[in-house]
This record gives sequence, structure tokens and C-alpha cells, in this order.
Amino acid sequence: MSLSSHLKYLEELTTNAKQVQDNLLEEILRVNGNTEYLRHFLHGSSNKESFKKNVPVVTYDDVNPYIERVAKGEPSNVITGETITNFLLSSGTSGGKQKIFPVNNKYIDGVRKGKVMTFLNTRPLSTTPSGLPIAPLSTSFLMSDYFKNLPSKCYVSPDEVILCVDNKQNMYCHLLCGLVQREEVVSISAAFASYLVQAIQFLETHWNELCGNIRSGCISEWITDPGCRDSVSVILGGPNPELAYMIEHECSQKSWEGMITRLWPNSKFIQTIVTGQMSQYIPILEFYSNKLPLVSPRYASSETIFGVNLNPLCKPQDVSYTFLPNMSYFEFLLVDEANNDEIVELVNVKLGCFYEPLVTNNFGLCRYRMGDILQVTGFYNSAPQFRFVRRKGMVLSVNVEVTTEQDILKALNHAGLVLESSALMLMGFTCYVDISTFPGHYVFYWELKAKSFNGIVKLDNKVMVECCCVIEESFDVLYRKLRTKYGSIGALEIRVVAQGTFDSLMEYFISKGASTSQYKTPICINAPQGLAILEDKVLARFFSDKSPPL
Ligand code: AMP
Repeated sequence: MSLSSHLKYLEELTTNAKQVQDNLLEEILRVNGNTEYLRHFLHGSSNKESFKKNVPVVTYDDVNPYIERVAKGEPSNVITGETITNFLLSSGTSGGKQKIFPVNNKYIDGVRKGKVMTFLNTRPLSTTPSGLPIAPLSTSFLMSDYFKNLPSKCYVSPDEVILCVDNKQNMYCHLLCGLVQREEVVSISAAFASYLVQAIQFLETHWNELCGNIRSGCISEWITDPGCRDSVSVILGGPNPELAYMIEHECSQKSWEGMITRLWPNSKFIQTIVTGQMSQYIPILEFYSNKLPLVSPRYASSETIFGVNLNPLCKPQDVSYTFLPNMSYFEFLLVDEANNDEIVELVNVKLGCFYEPLVTNNFGLCRYRMGDILQVTGFYNSAPQFRFVRRKGMVLSVNVEVTTEQDILKALNHAGLVLESSALMLMGFTCYVDISTFPGHYVFYWELKAKSFNGIVKLDNKVMVECCCVIEESFDVLYRKLRTKYGSIGALEIRVVAQGTFDSLMEYFISKGASTSQYKTPICINAPQGLAILEDKVLARFFSDKSPPL
């Protein structure tokens, strides 16, 4: 399809949003009405009214037993009239629990132009007990025949690098390819901003070695993946001492401000999601890129694609996603103080209101609660546009894991038991994600008090390190995997602060307008002034000294 026909199609979809949604639901009910799941509620009827009246709103735990049955080998028609060919593995943004969603591996034709340095990577596939592949959405796409056979790819890296499942070799080779072809790079991209920041930090620690490879024309010995070695050697194309010198000269400057535009002078924008929890990375990306435009292209998940950003060059804080009414049947649960459970259709959402989307798709999800909170910011024709507000129950996240308030409180309970042995009490705590290190890590600020009256706080290194380890051990499996297996999260740190620090913090928030009677120490803190108060009072730092078991 040409660009003008894409735009024409978009106009049609958004102008007829209600009709497109009604037709889609009709089609889903025609195909799925006889599944075991829907028969329970619809008893053979397939009209919209009985769907609305009888099919319940559900969370993953409700549909999981049905999905598991298909994963174990029962026919797809437990939940869908389509043939399930594979499962998508979510990143675990809802409470850190990774979920699998059935799909059928169909891709729609499209074209891409331009040359992009994109940090695409894949994870090793696993399989369901019945032998169907399970993979994250991106891996599933990148390993598909559709991707393999795309006529022209606009990436600086060859497929062999993209498909290399070793994260470190993959990252190194992407950067090497990007540096060698620096003049051709017009944009830099990664699905989420957190990964782009990791790439920059990786460059900070590896530029010397990368320059060595460019100078000699030989790739480092530790790149052992044969596909990567062969394909990247071709791109290196022999010794290039001038380029190596130029890159070395840039990277050895004291400040790395604007490094992206210095190394890739023709880059015009950065394409990566910077909305929602990713907004914490905006200042870092702006620093390294001399404020190149940050383009947040889409709002999508393993469950469905929701919408696209039709104003790509707008400021990150103004990004809204226009819902595509042909992607899934969308309903919206009103989120307001009255908690009144009102559900409305896509075209009936109201400007300014907050909603949680419910998804009904072809593959068996019916009225499925997404757990994301969105706000209506406008309409494009009759299709609503939404700002991503937040994930429900989210507190800490370095990568794709989500550590909730509940997880933190549970972990602290465990650590409290260790602390008991040293006659200390935890008087106050808060935490944040420190992404100035590579990889980022969790930091807990603790204010301790001796149990004995007027007692002096004596910090026992062994006990404190043990506390760090116990906290990590009690986090969910996704955190532990990212920390232990993939190395994408660094060792957890406890910073012990002087007594009275949390009082000072409270005074600060109150001076900013918080009510004294309602003040609660934030479980997770992001305000720079608040962090500065804490940092000022740090007495000692401790890190976990082992990776948590899986
Ligand atoms: P996954 O299914 O693992 O791909 O994760 C999907 C989740 O990522 C969504 O439910 C959102 O919470 C989050 N997400 C996806 N796209 C965006 C976006 N554009 N802005 C903010 N959060 C997003």
C-alpha cells in the first residue's frame, strides 16, 4: 500500500469507527460464538445485546484456565473459532506476572523506508506442553517468515544480529553496525525508551573496544555467534583507522551531552515509546540526543494493538494514541471516584474522562481488563484519542518487570526478620529506580533505629547485605530472571540515612502543599528535591552480593 492509500484507509476507519466496531464484534461472535467459553454465557445466541448483558468482564486469572487448556493441547475451540498457531508472552507489566495469549500468526503487508539503527532483539522460544511456540510479541514477529521475507529492510544490522538470542552480543553488534554506517543512520529506535538508555550505557562502557574493531577490521573474539561474526565482518569491510579515530575522539570527551547527534550526525529523530512509565527516561534521552524529537509511535500489547500516534513530532507529554477500530472490539470501564462500573463503547467515551480498556479479540479474549488507565484527549473523526496515564498498581520498574507496592511491602517484611537479629528497627523507607548505573537497579533508603533506648545504630555489614538479598529473593520471577539470567537489573542497594531524614522529607512535602494529616511517606519517590534530601543524609550503602535464585 502507498502512503496515500494508508492515509485514505485511516480516514475511512476513523470516520466509520462505530460501524467498524459493530462489524468486528459481529464477526468475532460469528467465529467464536460456539466456543466452550462463550457458550457458557451466550447459549448459542450471537447478538451484541446478549454479549453485553451476559458476558462478564474478566481479568487474566479468569481466562487463564481456558488458555492453559489450549496450551496443553486441547483444541483451539475451547476459546476461539480461529486456529491457534502460537502464543504471545507479555512482558509482565501487570503486577510482574508474565502471561501468555493465544494468536494466529498472520501479518498484514506493509512497507518501510529509510535506514534505522534499531535495537531489535529476540528471546529464545519456549513451547506450550502441546508444542506451540511461546514468545514475546517482538520475537514472534522477528522470527516469522513474514519478517524474513520482507523485500527491503531499512535497518543497519543484518537479520543474523537481530535474531541472535545472546543479548550482549546482539547489543554489541547493533552498535558496531550503526557506527560503521553512521552517515546513513537517519533515526534511532527501540521499542521502549528503557532499552535505548541501556544501549547508550553499553556504548559508554564498550566504545573503546568497538573502535578497536573498526580500526583493525576484526570483530572481538567474544562475539562467538557465527551468524553475527560473519555478517558483521562483511559490514565492517576491513580496517578503517580514520573512522575509529573520529569516534574515539568524540567518545573520550568529558561530556557525553549530545553524543547521539555527534556520532550519528544525520539522525533526525528517536523512535521509542516514552509515554507511561517510560517517561522517566525522557531527560536522559534529551541529554544524549541534544533534544532530537522523541517519537512514541504506538500503544500496543500482547493482547492487541490499540492505536497509533498521528502527531509523531509532538512533545512526549502531549502524545495521544488514536484507537484503530479494526484491531479489536474495545469497551471502556469508567475510572472515577464513585467506582460506578459504567461500561461504554469506543465511540461513546467522553472527553477528559479516565477509562480502563476492555478487549474482545478474535483469539478468545472477551471483555478482558487491560489494567491500563487512559484519558480521552480528543477525537480524530469519530475515533477517540487517549493519553496513557498509568499502569494500575505499578510502582518500580527498571526493565519490563513491575514491582508493586504489595511486592515491596512483602519484601520488607522478610527483610525485617533479618534485621531483628541485629536489634534494629526500620523507621522509614522509600525507594526508587537508579538508572544512572548500567544496568539500572533498585535503591531503598532506610532509616534505622536501635531497639534499645537512645541506642546507637551499629550497622553490621553481613546483616545489611543479607537484607538486600532477602528483598531480591522475595520479588517475583520476572525480576529474578532479569537480574540473574539476563543481567538487565543490577544488584539491589540499601542506603542507610541519618535519623530524622524522613521527618525532613515530610516537612518538604508539606511545605509543597501536602496535608499534614493525610501525609504518607511515598513508597516510591521520583521528585528530584525529595531525592536530594535523602541523598544528603546517606550514611552507608550496601548491595546484595548474590543473584536471587530463579
Ligand atoms: P506487553 O504485553 O508485554 O507488550 O505489555 C503491554 C503493556 O505495555 C501495555 O498494557 C502498557 O501498560 C504498556 N505500553 C504499551 N504501549 C505503551 C505506550 N505507548 N505507552 C505507555 N505504555 C505502553
